[in-house]
Amino acid sequence: MKSYDVVIVGNGILGCSTALEIIRRDRGIRVAVVGPKTRSGGATVAAGAMLNCFSEVNHRTLSTVYGKSKLETSMHSLEMWPKWLDAINEDLPPERRIKIRNGTYVIRNSRAGKLDSLNYNAIIEALENFNKRFEKIPFGEIPNMKPGVEARPLEAFYIQDEGAVDARQVLEAIVYLANRNGVVFLDDTVVELKQEISHIKCVVTASGEEIHANRFLVSAGSESRSLLEDLADFEEIPLQPIMASKGVAVTAQRTGSGPEHVIRTPNRAGGCGLHMIPGNEGTVYLGATGDMMLRADEFQTIGSVRFLINAMDQLDKRLFHSKITQWHVGNRPSSLDGFPLVGRLWQDNLWLLSGTHRDGFHCSPLLAQHTADIMIDGIGMLGDHFFSPLRMPIRTMSQDEAIEELSLHLVSQFYENAGKSPAYSEVSEMLENQYRTRTRETYEKLEIDFGLAPEVLGILNWAADREEKIGYFRKYFQRAIRAGQKN
Ligand SMILES: Cc1cc2nc3c(=O)[nH]c(=O)nc-3n(C[C@H](O)[C@H](O)[C@H](O)COP(=O)(O)OP(=O)(O)OC[C@H]3O[C@@H](n4cnc5c(N)ncnc54)[C@H](O)[C@@H]3O)c2cc1C
Repeated sequence: MKSYDVVIVGNGILGCSTALEIIRRDRGIRVAVVGPKTRSGGATVAAGAMLNCFSEVNHRTLSTVYGKSKLETSMHSLEMWPKWLDAINEDLPPERRIKIRNGTYVIRNSRAGKLDSLNYNAIIEALENFNKRFEKIPFGEIPNMKPGVEARPLEAFYIQDEGAVDARQVLEAIVYLANRNGVVFLDDTVVELKQEISHIKCVVTASGEEIHANRFLVSAGSESRSLLEDLADFEEIPLQPIMASKGVAVTAQRTGSGPEHVIRTPNRAGGCGLHMIPGNEGTVYLGATGDMMLRADEFQTIGSVRFLINAMDQLDKRLFHSKITQWHVGNRPSSLDGFPLVGRLWQDNLWLLSGTHRDGFHCSPLLAQHTADIMIDGIGMLGDHFFSPLRMPIRTMSQDEAIEELSLHLVSQFYENAGKSPAYSEVSEMLENQYRTRTRETYEKLEIDFGLAPEVLGILNWAADREEKIGYFRKYFQRAIRAGQKN
């Protein structure tokens, strides 16, 4: 039997950064991180790691207090990165030091639907509202960018203060430093959390080991909920579903002069924009798909390869001859309402840090410091926050707005997939009507009166096992609503 003060379940960026933060507060705390060394299917090891904040804004972000709060969290995280990396670099040998590659171009081309324009304009409006610097690029002509002629940008702008880091290099450095400061890394998988009255007693691993501790943090990415499912009392607010938004990306050897900064579209259908990120040793990272699923998997599909070829045409057609150096497949931990899940769970010694979807890497310094604070001192830098994990799903859209949003996404997806139609036809309107009808039917079956994000609804509208999936969500909503009325 092993015993520690703190056990962290999950060895992605959030688990490892929190471990480092805890040990930095007090070298005497015995911390162990449990997670498989391979991290296969993990989000962090697949991430492009753009430190993007305003470029992630969409046309609905600033319409609610929750969206604004998330943007402010993201802005705060962006400010933290230079200092966070300085503190890491200080303890690293010179050849391992990490640099931020600053600068992000946001482009708008004609390869998606009007959602692209709405989101593109929303980014500019948000930058202006918050007095952030950016620069419009005449004719969308970005240095060293060579898209196919028919996919060249119609317009573009450059944000100086948003860039990218190498996710794998940062994770490796954090593990190295945490380990040097005494954090123990156990190459294993947790299969159960054992509880005793209102306390977690220990975790049990796949190798049969019991690991005891005073405090536990679950940050197992998209696998977090499956570990926690049975720990809630039936009367208590259940944890909302944490899904896997599978992302596939590729790193290739660059041919000729490649981009010096991130080049990306606004977020598109399914929630993810196309992006190209300059990497080390003459490589570029091209990503990424976003397929929402109930359970994670670890393989790239032919469809994801086709999607990336389409991305190549829009960003740099010279990659046609490039050697692929690595495929990346990771599952973004995505909460049902799209907001992070950060804080204490039902038991008084159990915390959760997950649900960060697309920007968990970018927000990791802030989330790690907040989580270390709440676990050790009880009060975190985010204060009492909307993102507490035992909440009712945050409502950001009415059902009608959500139906409109979904049809915008699906029509956009149709054009992204090179949908062709005769010039005289009203194909967009026809598709929108079809999508609306199907979606209204799904809402009726779910028996809820508020709207869900398009990527969530997407898995319910057309899945082969649609009825089963709707049943799963309906059960969660009924239980949450019942518990919410009692609490
Ligand atoms: C293709 C792609 C591109 C992305 N691009 C960006 C980006 O540009 N910027 C950005 O900020 N974010 C990006 N993200 C999102 C970001 O990667 C995630 O939000 C973040 O990495 C989540 O970190 P995590 O530690 O919670 O999860 P993970 O990295 O998934 O880590 C969870 C870990 O827990 C381990 N684990 C799972 N089950 C168990 C268990 N039972 N016991 C023990 N360990 C377990 C897993 O092996 C894994 O290593 C991207 C993600 C993907 C997939």
